Amino acid sequence: MLSSDHYSGLLNIVSDLVWSFALDGQKLLYLNPAVASIYDRSSDELQSQPGLWLDSIHHDDQPLLRKNLAAITENIQFNQKFRIVQPDGSKHWLLGFFCLVFDESGKPAYIGGTASDVTSRMKVEQKFDESQAIYDSLVESLPINVFRKDRDGKIVFANGRYCKDLELPLDKVIGLDDFDLFDEELAKKYKKDDEWVLQTGLPFHDIEEHASGDDSIFVEVLKAAVTDKHGRRIGIQGMFWDVTDRRKAEEALRSAKELAESASRAKSDFLANVSHEIRTPMNGIIGMTDLLLGSVTNREHRDYLDLIQTSSQSLLKLINNILDFSKIESGKVQLESQRFNLRDTLGDTLRSLAIRVHAKNLELIVDVAPDVPAEIVGDLTRLRQVMVNLVSNATKFTHSGMVKVVIENVGFSNDKVNLRFSVKDSGIGIPDDKLAMIFSEFEQADTSTTREYGGTGLGLAIASRIVKLMGGELQVTSTLGKGSEFFFVGAFHTDSTSFVEKSDLLDGQTVLLVVRNPEMMASLTKTLNYWNVRTFGCDDAKKAIKLLKGMALAEDPIPLVITDIDLPEDDGPTLALWIRGDDVVAKTKIIFLTATNISEGVFDRGQLGIDDQLLKPVKEQDLVDSIASVLCLVEPVTTSHGTRPVDENSSQRALRILLAEDNLVNQKLAVTLLQKAGHSVVVASNGQEAIDKFIQSEFDVVLMDVQMPEVDGFEATFQIRKLQTQAQHRVPIIALTAHASAADRKRCLAAGMDEYISKPFRSAELYELIESQTGYRSKIETASGGQAEAKAVRLVDWAHAFETVGGDHQLLHELIKVFLKDRDSLVDNIRNALESDNDKELRLSAHSIKGALTHLGARESAELAMKMESLASKQDINSARSVFEKFASSLEPLTAELKEFVSGK
Ligand code: ADP
Repeated sequence: MLSSDHYSGLLNIVSDLVWSFALDGQKLLYLNPAVASIYDRSSDELQSQPGLWLDSIHHDDQPLLRKNLAAITENIQFNQKFRIVQPDGSKHWLLGFFCLVFDESGKPAYIGGTASDVTSRMKVEQKFDESQAIYDSLVESLPINVFRKDRDGKIVFANGRYCKDLELPLDKVIGLDDFDLFDEELAKKYKKDDEWVLQTGLPFHDIEEHASGDDSIFVEVLKAAVTDKHGRRIGIQGMFWDVTDRRKAEEALRSAKELAESASRAKSDFLANVSHEIRTPMNGIIGMTDLLLGSVTNREHRDYLDLIQTSSQSLLKLINNILDFSKIESGKVQLESQRFNLRDTLGDTLRSLAIRVHAKNLELIVDVAPDVPAEIVGDLTRLRQVMVNLVSNATKFTHSGMVKVVIENVGFSNDKVNLRFSVKDSGIGIPDDKLAMIFSEFEQADTSTTREYGGTGLGLAIASRIVKLMGGELQVTSTLGKGSEFFFVGAFHTDSTSFVEKSDLLDGQTVLLVVRNPEMMASLTKTLNYWNVRTFGCDDAKKAIKLLKGMALAEDPIPLVITDIDLPEDDGPTLALWIRGDDVVAKTKIIFLTATNISEGVFDRGQLGIDDQLLKPVKEQDLVDSIASVLCLVEPVTTSHGTRPVDENSSQRALRILLAEDNLVNQKLAVTLLQKAGHSVVVASNGQEAIDKFIQSEFDVVLMDVQMPEVDGFEATFQIRKLQTQAQHRVPIIALTAHASAADRKRCLAAGMDEYISKPFRSAELYELIESQTGYRSKIETASGGQAEAKAVRLVDWAHAFETVGGDHQLLHELIKVFLKDRDSLVDNIRNALESDNDKELRLSAHSIKGALTHLGARESAELAMKMESLASKQDINSARSVFEKFASSLEPLTAELKEFVSGK
């Protein structure tokens, strides 16, 4: 038996409270040290003041404790949680057990009790209760249905909203599964979804459609696995909500978008169709007028016909612009990628535009910075289109001064170079408030200028959209009355071969520039300095001769003068005369800067001893080549680059042509043109007829309209190609179509056709195409005498000619007119040089005419001119004479072809 000391020793060390009370519950009979410690009072204090232990209990907990104590004689024992409040106010939660203890006689003796400190447990519980309350209020206030199920699919929780939808109280919902609540099919789906979540542990998301009366409702569902603390999936929880309104709004939006897209497609299809419908009769108008112009001699009637041609051409231009614009607008235009030499290609285009600029007595300056790569990759055709538009506008709206084109390298990004293109003019300018709107379609800065300047207001709209496709933005700055600058930055691909090392050919040379326009002077000086040429400059002949003589006397002679012909007082020829007449400087070489490619009739170049001529705007390479050649820094070289050898054996033969065309006017036009060229034509009015006629007889070539009733051109081509699978000779099929895009061309070729010509076409184009496909030259009657006179066609590479002028028909027309005007004097110069055995003059004259011919794409004649130039460099006048014969006779049919073009405008 253990001693009482032993027990009291044990009671002293237990952390739980052990105590006893008199039967009135007030007086403490015994307390172990844990009691004093939790009350933070001494044992004496607690024992000496009856009721203190009770009074120190939180007043919220006291009433129950007192009540339980009072009833203990009846209930014998009770448990209660209560809080002790320490003197400093801190509180401790106790879980107490009170029990009535009886003496040996069975009478109640005292109340015994134990209690443990549960403060930290209560805090956790309290926190849990709080978060439970937050969770409950959240789940209940959510505008969505929330539920939880166990692994067997039985609902273990549902929020009020869900219960309300099920029209059941929560206690009835708990324990049900989907088969109790929904039809079998739906319950099976839910079960399958739940199982997927339980298997994969992944969240499940779905939008379910449920029938609701005649309509449907849409419900968005999210389900996720519920896991225990070991990570085991013990059920799933889910939520769902009604998304019918959102879904319907999305559907409405989608169908509105589709509608808008189809409207935009319809718009551009409509435009393409309208343009097709207009082009077809236009083909008739232009073609027939063309024919009439060839035979009508009455001047007044010719004027009327000219007017019809001009109007038709401007209508066609407008249609092309509208079509182009609508294609760009509807995102159908994609830029092509081709490699090109920027200085050369754009230089050619700008040179063509120079005719218009110079005709207005303006200066055209082109400044390409040296660090602009020689070759870049991009869409040359579209770039040309933009530049032609900007330079044409600048020319149109400028009355005096200049138009300046500047191309600069503004930096590289990855493998692309960013080039800044700028077109500046000294023209009428644009008011500030109109600057933004001129880029919109059909907008012009001042509608009252329209009559004076013409135009449709589509040019800049198209240009700015093309620039956007190039990754840039077309911008403008302008001062009214002073001029405008349009500029943009385009990104182009480059590679290691894009950059060409500059040669040291001109290093250390000296040149005197006598140039009127300061901008032109600055540009030429910059270029020459880049080539390490020392430059002197002045703007009139008197200063120039003084400078030349001064430098010569100072024993630092200037060997070369590059001069404008047109100078303020004494002109270029006068300066040349002075130079040649002065003993000291007579040997100075002279290069003239000419505005148009003409052999200036006003001065005798031979007598003046002009060494070379450069056409403005001066291309950098031409400048370098010319200086090098004049200063004898290189052997004159001749290349046959870009020219085709003259095919002297080309035969002429009448062809048998099958023409499939449903439109009567176009039938008549094509038949007339083909017969004029000496061919025989069989006409089919639709695709089926074409197939039948193709089977019945033999043809050299088929011209196939694409759009025909019943069997169209594509189908007819397909059938003909099928018939031809065994044939040894494949008959070429040329598509005739009013659709004018590159995609249409691809479609024709894909259908088995060999070439493509878009309506309205020009006779020369048609002949050229037939020749390229059959290898036979057409024989055409010239309109003049009515006699059948042989004439070789395809002397002009029209595609090249049009490309050089950025597709600007009017511009090409002007260019050709200038050539025709100067043709005779150019040829006379060559003839005179030959007669007087003047090789230098021969080289220059041949060079001049070669430039113009190359420009027009008249390859054959250009090649002959080049031959003469090269023979002149070798002083082989005799050989040059025999080439001249051929050259002169090549010019006859060429002139006829060019005249034909011009008379049709
Ligand atoms: P348009 O066919 O009328 O020339 P554009 O779209 O090319 O159509 O030009 C729109 C308008 O912008 C022109 O009508 C003109 O008012 C103005 N504009 C364009 N370029 C210039 C310029 N270089 N100088 C002055 N005004 C210009």
